[in-house]
Amino acid sequence: MAWHVVIAGGGFGGLYAARRLERNLPRQSAQITLVTDVNFMLYTPLLPGAASGTLEPRHVVVPLREELHRTDIRLGRVTGADPALSELMFEGLDGHEERIRYDQLVVALGSVSRVLPIPGLAEHGLGFKTISEAIALRNRALLNLELAETLDDPAARDEYLTFVFVGGGYAGLEGIAELQDYVADVIERYPRCRLQGTRWILVEALDRVMTETPPSLSEFATRELRGRGIEIRTGTRVNAVGAHSVTLSTGEEVPCRMVCWTAGVKPSPVVRQLGLPLNDGGRIEVDETMRVRGHENVWAIGDCAAVPDPAKGGEAPCPPTAQHAIRQGRLVADNVAATLGHGRVKPFRYKTLGLFVDMGRHKAVATMLGIKLRGFIAWWAARTYHVAMIPGAGRRLRLIVDWTVGLMFGRASAELGQLGHPPSLNGYLETPRPDVEREGSA
Ligand SMILES: Cc1cc2nc3c(=O)[nH]c(=O)nc-3n(C[C@H](O)[C@H](O)[C@H](O)COP(=O)(O)OP(=O)(O)OC[C@H]3O[C@@H](n4cnc5c(N)ncnc54)[C@H](O)[C@@H]3O)c2cc1C
Repeated sequence: MAWHVVIAGGGFGGLYAARRLERNLPRQSAQITLVTDVNFMLYTPLLPGAASGTLEPRHVVVPLREELHRTDIRLGRVTGADPALSELMFEGLDGHEERIRYDQLVVALGSVSRVLPIPGLAEHGLGFKTISEAIALRNRALLNLELAETLDDPAARDEYLTFVFVGGGYAGLEGIAELQDYVADVIERYPRCRLQGTRWILVEALDRVMTETPPSLSEFATRELRGRGIEIRTGTRVNAVGAHSVTLSTGEEVPCRMVCWTAGVKPSPVVRQLGLPLNDGGRIEVDETMRVRGHENVWAIGDCAAVPDPAKGGEAPCPPTAQHAIRQGRLVADNVAATLGHGRVKPFRYKTLGLFVDMGRHKAVATMLGIKLRGFIAWWAARTYHVAMIPGAGRRLRLIVDWTVGLMFGRASAELGQLGHPPSLNGYLETPRPDVEREGSA
């Protein structure tokens, strides 16, 4: 009988684990099933490019069926697990509930935005973690320009032309830099807005941005963004978010209509329903081979798992990054195969090689193998790295084409919020004409 290996989550960790398992496990000896709620992997490092209209959203996702050839992909939402019975529960697309038995389970359910209980934040803030949020950001920025253009009162226009990002990690930095660059590009088409100008604020609670990079790079990024007119408020928190303003811990009330929240992530809430041990941060506790503590046949990787970080002597969990999730995905596949008789179980040894933060306008900051890069060379290295890393030759080519066309012809300013939400046909329903009805019934 073939072993059944089940993977929960089809992001970086899940996709790379499935790809490696397809290679490691002989076809007749194992069945691989991937349960995931969307049929693509989102290549998040390129999300700011999609939010700023530089990249076509379809080009920053990797369809799972193009990459996996013998994995049974089951679209659905994981709802729980019973490790004692070795069963995973999920709700299929049509709402039916299903339990599947596994011999080996790999949990790779990722993370969600960590939303603090700040008054008004959940109602008025926008996240920046999914493709729909990236598109919503771009659309909201365009709608703000459209609305501001219709207003006679400059003070009222100001609200629409002020954009606030909260969280000075790489997502927040790349997000604000790329979106500001985009708005600067398209504002030429909005004469009133162009004359008034826009205001951009990045709020960070710590005393510097990008604490994951050396202070010199963080200083470079701060100088660069300040030079573009972005206000960087470090040591500041957001106390409240309203429909028309944001209140900062300094007491200042900033009139604005768009607040983007990028202040951290937490493990997907469903990991609490899996009956597995969790650490204080809610991540699944695993040993250095990524096996869940106390569960011989369950493994966990990526943002939802507390894999001991070799760079910190195993004392702290690995940071939630794609580069860790990819390496953990590959190694967990080797370890699962080893448990099933193909090879030897090994500990996770990967240490961060580097980090890129793309700031748009041909500038970035980067650390690579201990070398610090900034400016154009870092930007070029970042693009080259992502083109090399994203799976699929066709997708790589599409990215290059998107970037080149954007450089030559600028970016589109169509607001496509209606995409995927077609009007109901009810709105066009013909009302029967009484005379025609009478004729028909005669
Ligand atoms: C804007 C942004 C930029 C980033 N840039 C970088 C970068 O430049 N470099 C870097 O290394 N990292 C970057 N990251 C971090 C990186 O995206 C994550 O660390 C990485 O995605 C983690 O991989 P994962 O497999 O754990 O989770 P994910 O890739 O998030 O995959 C989890 C998968 O599980 C699915 N899922 C979740 N819940 C369920 C459920 N209940 N049922 C079924 N499926 C479910 C999700 O839909 C998803 O497909 C960035 C993140 C963001 C938000």
